[in-house]
Amino acid sequence: MEFNCLPPSVVFQEVPNEISLCFSITGCKVGCKGCHSTELWNENYGSALTNKAFITWLKKYQGLISCVVFFGGEWQRHALIEKLLIAKNLGLKTCLYSGERYIDINIYQHLNFLKTGPWQAELGGLESNTTNQIFRNVNTGETLNHLFIKNHLNKSNNHSTKEGTNNVAA
Ligand code: SF4
Repeated sequence: MEFNCLPPSVVFQEVPNEISLCFSITGCKVGCKGCHSTELWNENYGSALTNKAFITWLKKYQGLISCVVFFGGEWQRHALIEKLLIAKNLGLKTCLYSGERYIDINIYQHLNFLKTGPWQAELGGLESNTTNQIFRNVNTGETLNHLFIKNHLNKSNNHSTKEGTNNVAA
């Protein structure tokens, strides 16, 4: 079974020091209160991200990007793992932004970077010192939240570091 996504876009802030092609996957079941992207709750929204379509996107941006980031998609484990393997085989790093606190090890093992934790408005996103969310380098285990705070990310892009989707939906 495949999942749908919005048209991808190149992003610079979601994964520090990487230029990423970002895919927002629809069908999110996390249900964060105050979610800024409720259109992503509908799994029928967007276009099917088949493996063929995914490869076409990656080849289009080959040489320009260093990483692929998924906003969601963990709810379809096999479809996501297939995409992560394709990206890795093309020499790209991989990142998942999830609203869940824990990620299936079968997905985790194919990631270089991972953001976990639901959006909680009172705590703020990754740019906040009080956030519940964690961005980590999976390979080293290091938490990289400090990179988001130091960089003072574009606050007008109000969804990208909460549970990023805004910059591709906009
Ligand atoms: S903030 Fe993100 S994880 Fe939470 S409901 Fe919205 S799209 Fe899903």
